[in-house]
Amino acid sequence: MANTVKDAILRGRKTVETVVEGGLDTVETVVEAGLNTVDAVVVKGRRTVESAVSLGRRTVESALLGRSTMQAAVLHGREDIRIEEVPIPKAAVGELIVRVGAALTCGTDLKVFRRGYHARMIVPPALFGHELAGTVVEAGDGVAAFAAGNRVVALNSAPCGQCFFCERGQENLCDDLLFNNGAYAEFIRIPARIVAKNTLHVPDHVPLEHAALTEPLACAVHGFEDSGARSGDTIAVIGGGPLGLMILHVAALAGCHAIAIVKHDGQAEAARQLGAAHVVQTTSIRKAVRETRALTEKNRGVDIAIEAVGLPDAWEEALELVRKGGTVNFFGGCALGTHVNLDTNRIHYSDITLRSTFHHTPAICRRALDMIAEGRFQAQAFITGHAHLYELNRVFEKLMKRSSEIKTAIVP
Ligand SMILES: [Zn+2]
Ligand SMILES: [Zn+2]
Repeated sequence: MANTVKDAILRGRKTVETVVEGGLDTVETVVEAGLNTVDAVVVKGRRTVESAVSLGRRTVESALLGRSTMQAAVLHGREDIRIEEVPIPKAAVGELIVRVGAALTCGTDLKVFRRGYHARMIVPPALFGHELAGTVVEAGDGVAAFAAGNRVVALNSAPCGQCFFCERGQENLCDDLLFNNGAYAEFIRIPARIVAKNTLHVPDHVPLEHAALTEPLACAVHGFEDSGARSGDTIAVIGGGPLGLMILHVAALAGCHAIAIVKHDGQAEAARQLGAAHVVQTTSIRKAVRETRALTEKNRGVDIAIEAVGLPDAWEEALELVRKGGTVNFFGGCALGTHVNLDTNRIHYSDITLRSTFHHTPAICRRALDMIAEGRFQAQAFITGHAHLYELNRVFEKLMKRSSEIKTAIVP
């Protein structure tokens, strides 16, 4: 066990809480231990580390006035993330600086890690990560809705509100969707447009790591709602990744008879916990189709099939799962340039509705956070691990090996 804050920090324990776990529980003892880092807190009259933490000053260093750099993950290319010392951003007009409480790993980040870029979202070298919640440490001029100390979830994008698509209520298709990255860091700048349109107050009883699920949950809710399900419908979800499981859970909560089609044991177990009525576990598409249809009356097929893998083969599979008059939602985005072969006869003469839901809208993001706050949504089931920012490379390497982890909360 570390005897001083300095020892604790040298051993990689960068947060005040982990220092406190080491037995130093007041600012005075931290200062006595040989570091003047928390002087600023004392000067402000906050005598305990806990009260500093509640103000959003979560690291020992951030308690130092005038600190100008922070640790952040910088993506340099394929499978190359480096934790670097970079300037702490300052809030310009309309912006917020948020102390990251938790940043969640996501399938999109994993794709970016593997490919080294994302055509729409990120071009290296760049700050990285987009699912986060935290505490406001600085509000720029003109920000009325938020102040230092507020707990917030800031979404990864915001629409312009003015283009053809925004005016039609299809903000997910905005011609000028603004993306924000940099959640794997101690602090993140939230651009003015995201502050104005897609930053939400987190109720006190909701842990920040749960609130950080707002973004993926909004995508899942959007996909589910777009599929037009009614209570009692049978709905098959292909894919046991975080989003597949989330859609499955949303469907089960809405009273649907949900069938999970997954490959791995951990995914099957998670699907059951999240309300799947049946789990079809196989790596064979033929088998998945046969077994899923066998779960419906007279092998009729499911009312709705949602593909949440993002592979052309799985898109084709989804079409084979639905009954006459059913709906298919191609929810998983495939790699650029890929194509599918679909049976036109089946689509036409079986009167099948094809949809392909993308992203989220501000209204859906609000509904997603409400769902998390209400407590029926099992947020804790989606966060299967915790890691420090320094461990980010290892976390992604592990995710690439298809471990049973759903999401890891990265705590800076
Ligand atoms: Zn995400
Ligand atoms: Zn727009």
